[in-house]
Amino acid sequence: MTELPGEFELIARLAALFGTPPDGLGIGDDAATWPASGDTVQVATTDMLIEGIHFRLDWTNPEDLGWKALAVNLSDLAAMGATPGRALVSIAVDAACRGLVLEVARGLQSLAEQTGTRVVGGDTVRSPGPLAINVALVGEADPAHLLRRDAARPGDLVAVTGRLGASSAALALLSERPTPLDPAAAPLLAAHHRPLPRLAAGQLLAAHGVRCAIDISDGLASEALHLARASGVGIEIDVDHLPLAPAAVRLLGERRSRELALTGGEDYELLFTLDRRLVDELASGLVIEGGLTVIGEVTDRVPVGTVRFVEASHPIELAREGYVAF
Ligand code: ADP
Ligand code: MG
Repeated sequence: MTELPGEFELIARLAALFGTPPDGLGIGDDAATWPASGDTVQVATTDMLIEGIHFRLDWTNPEDLGWKALAVNLSDLAAMGATPGRALVSIAVDAACRGLVLEVARGLQSLAEQTGTRVVGGDTVRSPGPLAINVALVGEADPAHLLRRDAARPGDLVAVTGRLGASSAALALLSERPTPLDPAAAPLLAAHHRPLPRLAAGQLLAAHGVRCAIDISDGLASEALHLARASGVGIEIDVDHLPLAPAAVRLLGERRSRELALTGGEDYELLFTLDRRLVDELASGLVIEGGLTVIGEVTDRVPVGTVRFVEASHPIELAREGYVAF
């Protein structure tokens, strides 16, 4: 029996099937681009959340779910340095649960209002069981200041915005611990249920000359690998430098929090590479908790298309690389 393709292989085959557009980015980055009128490009992305895979309704209320469904898409626009635009929202729901649709929509609309996003359509269909929500989002960017996955260069530093591991620490606590949760978990739950897409950070990076970024949806390790492969470079990351969420360290310990930061996912921070001369000006411009942290470098010492993790200057192996669909 021939083996079924994994997620990365499947997307590579889809990219070969659909081909590359002549006038912008197609499959392979956080979002696609094509020329718009004037001096800008349109930037488009879509992401879907499925009950039982991406969320459970006993841990997530419908309004938070709506917020998150838009947030994960806005995060992809942030990773391009783009500003949001307009969204289409599709929901598949069991007939008996259709009352949830408006609650989901209310949560989504509250983030839409905060980010200047306008919902202009969608689709509502019946599901045989699980709730599914898909958002398609179009925004805009300056093509000369686009953040791409394939623009890392040897000599660049590697950095992240904010803190890592909070969302997956919340998930670990929800699944392992009896309720009620320790009040110290509040910031972790907030990061998990209402992630804040780094739109302003993405635009700031782009405006200051950063060229390469990806959002951290599936864990730092797998996103770093995407950058290394797309850019054709080697990346070294010092795990001692990871900006771990303090509440995660407090409740789960440093080692576990580090593992969650590397492979847990759903942080929706930005991973990017930059010329070392930009660090100071970017650090002072980023007004988010955790700011910017340099965690490694793009280097010829690491084989092209791979990521080396070091701890106290020694290479370490990760148990797994991050969330993959298959
Ligand atoms: P992200 O995690 O940033 O949302 P993904 O890993 O889901 O990105 O997708 C990687 C790339 O593959 C993106 O450019 C996305 O648009 C594309 N892609 C994923 N699934 C499909 C599909 N079924 N058809 C076409 N393109 C797809
Ligand atoms: Mg992405």
